[in-house]
Amino acid sequence: MDEIIKILNELNTDDSRFLINIIKSHNSYIEDMNNKRDNTKIIVKKCSTDLKEGIINLDDIYADHYFYTKMRVKIEKIMDSLLKIDKNELLNKRILHNTIYNENRIKTPVFEKDKLDIVELIKKMSINNIINIKMVASSITDINLFKEEQINMAIEIIKINNPKEKINKIYDYTYNYLKNDFISNNYCDFIKNKCVAQRRFHLYPINRKDGCCFMEIRKCPHLKNGQCDTECLACRLFSCPFLTKRGIGYYANEFVLLKAFLNKNQRKKLVFEFYKSKEEILKKIINI
Ligand code: SF4
Ligand code: SF4
Repeated sequence: MDEIIKILNELNTDDSRFLINIIKSHNSYIEDMNNKRDNTKIIVKKCSTDLKEGIINLDDIYADHYFYTKMRVKIEKIMDSLLKIDKNELLNKRILHNTIYNENRIKTPVFEKDKLDIVELIKKMSINNIINIKMVASSITDINLFKEEQINMAIEIIKINNPKEKINKIYDYTYNYLKNDFISNNYCDFIKNKCVAQRRFHLYPINRKDGCCFMEIRKCPHLKNGQCDTECLACRLFSCPFLTKRGIGYYANEFVLLKAFLNKNQRKKLVFEFYKSKEEILKKIINI
């Protein structure tokens, strides 16, 4: 992998930098899974889910739709293709480009009817105030570790009685995840205040600088010295058509906590309230 990164670094094109960011995203996913594996409290044993007894068998719970997101699957497909390319061919810009845009359709996971959707499980736990549980599974797989993490975060939210604090916590969990993923992996790839989309398409977005932080006629007031001074979830969830075509994009419906604790209208607001501070957004969604 080091050799691939070295070649991509030397190429230093929009595509090669994008692929380096994809490798970074893949590596941090592996690291994150290893951390979860080291710290898991899942008990490996055969036992059915019994919420009254405080037992959840993670194998009974469906979470594929939230774990195998379109973006995660796309990143893994790009990684697969990248590892198959002959090192000498990495210098071929066309091959690199095709690796990013390969047209393999990404299938949406099919719901398994014999399982309980993790969102429905969390709703049940929330209604019945279930916060003491043991999680069991037949084996410690990545998806079971993901389910454990989501259920543990849900328990932290269920424990909070104040509705404002509850929503605040859900917001923070989601925002921090997106911040770590989107910003750390630098998908927008700014160079001299121009993002990759602005460098490629001269008319998009309109001012040709500051990426999406430029509104129709002026910069967003939250943009200070090139940094956002607030935590706007809609901005973090947004991916422009250029990045979407490259497989980068999130959907509010892919976030377990948003689906389990917020209603449709609240989720809609989270997705469309751009250029707003966290406080402004929370004020709008708290009573709908
Ligand atoms: S999401 Fe916005 S800032 Fe990022 S590349 Fe697209 S237009 Fe640029
Ligand atoms: S609120 Fe959105 S548009 Fe404004 S600076 Fe922050 S990220 Fe950019």
